[in-house]
Amino acid sequence: MSKFFSEKYSSLTPYTPGEQPKDAQYIKLNTNESPFPPTEKAVSCAAEAAERLNLYPDPECFLLTSRLADILGVDREEVLLTNGSDEILNFAFMAYCDDAHPAAFADITYGFYKVFAELNRVPYEIIPLSDDLTIRSDDYIGINKTIFIANPNAPTGIALTLSEIERIVESNPDNIVVIDEAYVDFGGESAVPLIKKYDNLLVTQTFSKSRSMAGARLGFGVGCKELIRDLNTVKYSTNPYNINMMTMAAGIGILEDEETVRERCKTICENRTYTADALTTLGFECIPSSTNFIFARHPHLDGETVYLKLKEAGILVRHFTTERIKDYNRITIGTREQMEALVTAMIGILGELLYK
Ligand code: PMP
Repeated sequence: MSKFFSEKYSSLTPYTPGEQPKDAQYIKLNTNESPFPPTEKAVSCAAEAAERLNLYPDPECFLLTSRLADILGVDREEVLLTNGSDEILNFAFMAYCDDAHPAAFADITYGFYKVFAELNRVPYEIIPLSDDLTIRSDDYIGINKTIFIANPNAPTGIALTLSEIERIVESNPDNIVVIDEAYVDFGGESAVPLIKKYDNLLVTQTFSKSRSMAGARLGFGVGCKELIRDLNTVKYSTNPYNINMMTMAAGIGILEDEETVRERCKTICENRTYTADALTTLGFECIPSSTNFIFARHPHLDGETVYLKLKEAGILVRHFTTERIKDYNRITIGTREQMEALVTAMIGILGELLYK
């Protein structure tokens, strides 16, 4: 750290992204990316846009926002596109958290919430998951805090029902409730329709997972017009051109391929069932997942050892060192071939460690 670094930030512990290895060809099951490339339409739209990179992109994102709003069944003024959903989550911390409105989120959830709270220097309450790693919705009823809930939650993969979400939103009318739906397309129930009924609900989603565009950085928030206006104030005060021209074009392209996106989600869900069944047969405990990943542990194996052994076998999964979940690994669901390779590697690891 330089002697110039502001005291405001010098004690920050930044978010640790999943490994992006450069040294070897791994089967990458560690960052919940899609195993499918973006569709041809998305790629060709981005390539066309590349020819206009001498110009600034449309700061309003007019066309993409209009098309997305149509698909979501909301008005254009109820949607804000951002540089990944990480950006809209940060905007929400900036806009809706302060000393009078502390943040609240689970102990085991998306790690960026804590980082954003600290970055923005807002107080926060951490609400532990129950013993079975579910979010207890009762813990969020009428708590008078700005609530951040990943639904389905990560890294557990467990979803709350829409009626539980609605109960939380309804019981906190003076605070914003942010529902982070990064994984909703793999089995969750979206709260987007509720934005018409509740002025304190902000739903965030991403093009990174189901729409195969993690590298393009595109996410969005959906909420009533007043909320989107607040968030635009933050956007235009930080980075008005937050969506680059190629990403915007790719986003417009992929929205023309909704059917393909849906089919791919179905394939991921089938591969998830295959993987969970195979791992369960091998003695793993897999939490039933509504996402494109599985959170699994083996009663007789240490989580870190499994992670390291898989890495040796050329397969990367995500291991967290947090005490409550250190026995688990989070395994992204990839193609059938990738998942078969994972199962084969696991059989080898079990043979080596348990049945030698
Ligand atoms: N929310 C959750 C729960 C996530 O796991 C992630 C990404 N790993 C994000 C939000 C952010 O995704 P992105 O910025 O790629 O949209």
